Amino acid sequence: MDNSINQKEIVSKSLVDKQRIAIISDHGDPSTETGVEEAGGQNVYVRQLGEMLPTFGWWVDIFTRKIKKEDPMIVQNSPYCRTIRLVAGPEKFIPRDQIFDYMPEFVSAFEAFRKQENIYYPIVHTNYWLSAWVGLKLKNLTDIKLVHTYLSLGTVKYEAALKYKTLTQLPEIAETRLKVEQQILEQADCVVVNSLQEKKDLRNLVSQKGCIKLIPLGTSLDRFHPILQSEARTKLGLNLTEQIVLYVGRFDPRKGIETMVRACAQSQARLTGNLRLVIVGGSCSDRIDELERKRIEQTVQEVGLSEKTLFVGRVDHHILPLYYACADVCLIPSHYEMFGLVAIEAMACGIPVIASDVGGLKYTVVHEETGLLIPSQNIKLFAEAIDQILANKVWAKQLSINASNRVHKYFNLTTTVGQLNSLYNELLAQKVELTLTT
Ligand code: UDP
Repeated sequence: MDNSINQKEIVSKSLVDKQRIAIISDHGDPSTETGVEEAGGQNVYVRQLGEMLPTFGWWVDIFTRKIKKEDPMIVQNSPYCRTIRLVAGPEKFIPRDQIFDYMPEFVSAFEAFRKQENIYYPIVHTNYWLSAWVGLKLKNLTDIKLVHTYLSLGTVKYEAALKYKTLTQLPEIAETRLKVEQQILEQADCVVVNSLQEKKDLRNLVSQKGCIKLIPLGTSLDRFHPILQSEARTKLGLNLTEQIVLYVGRFDPRKGIETMVRACAQSQARLTGNLRLVIVGGSCSDRIDELERKRIEQTVQEVGLSEKTLFVGRVDHHILPLYYACADVCLIPSHYEMFGLVAIEAMACGIPVIASDVGGLKYTVVHEETGLLIPSQNIKLFAEAIDQILANKVWAKQLSINASNRVHKYFNLTTTVGQLNSLYNELLAQKVELTLTT
């Protein structure tokens, strides 16, 4: 919490020129460390959104579930953006699939906070299906405009998990999730999708009803931009001549890290003895991501790449540009990826991406223009793709330039937040019109 900020000053100023918005992110706390289990893209995106919306005239409160007793209830992220941690259920980490029962408490805690602070939020933007349920309840209680972003879609996620056997049966909560995902599409004032694929999936698999607007996620170009490879490697103490294949993300079976390890082992580049695999991402000792990390370590050992693999652990978001800049290629071998922020972060740093041909990755990565798209889990084709990029420096340079240009054109955070700002304003204008005509 930044104590230097005078709360009274903020309140009086904001009442004059700022419009209130509540962003609800049930499990994606924007003020927590990212890169470990269940703290990834959602946390990063919500934090970036909250930090940038005030420049468009919004006063932002981001609501999330409190998962540690010692965490402060309110974090002042910037003068006009706060994270508010609501007590809903035990103050400890609970896997997403088990949080639903605490969502009624989340709604009560939200309402209690709002009444205590005497705040009215004309716009509520929910993220992930659990927050969608909260948003629908709030819409019944107060006159709000409700915007929703899925970030993960049950129907597609479950299909991929059963196909790739990362799940043997659907979790108990699946039926409720699918129902809420349909309700939010049909009842929200607008659902924001991040890729064309997501829009198609919603229309084909969820419902024909409801308003959908395509606004891709974006990344900060101030943070993620090209840096000289030699400079980045020197700063991180990495070898200047090795060919580096990079993975950035959480340890989760659906991320397909095993495919990458096995592909590196099969690649021709391995035979030169000059290949290095750098894996960035953390795990927590008492959580399931630890199991996946151990499984990946075993795979690395099994294929004889232990000497050539560096497990870096979790890296702070602001240090990540250096890791991207070190790489010759970044791999995203996911079985399922609704959007995949890592793809646009790597591309913004001018790194070619080899990604699975799934979900949002089909939209961010352009095959043979900014990188390569490969059928997920196809080890042989991933290995060939790695060789193709590593063996051809001139082509790799062209991919790198195209990748950076594509992010500037389509996935710039400022543009994303600008589009959301316009959407919120359009919805508020509808509200005013309605008031005037009734
Ligand atoms: N990330 C991070 N530190 C790490 C590993 C990952 O901050 O050590 C961030 C990464 O930069 C990205 C996010 O975690 O912004 C992962 O988002 P993505 O959409 O790729 O995957 P998700 O975690 O949502 O499945």
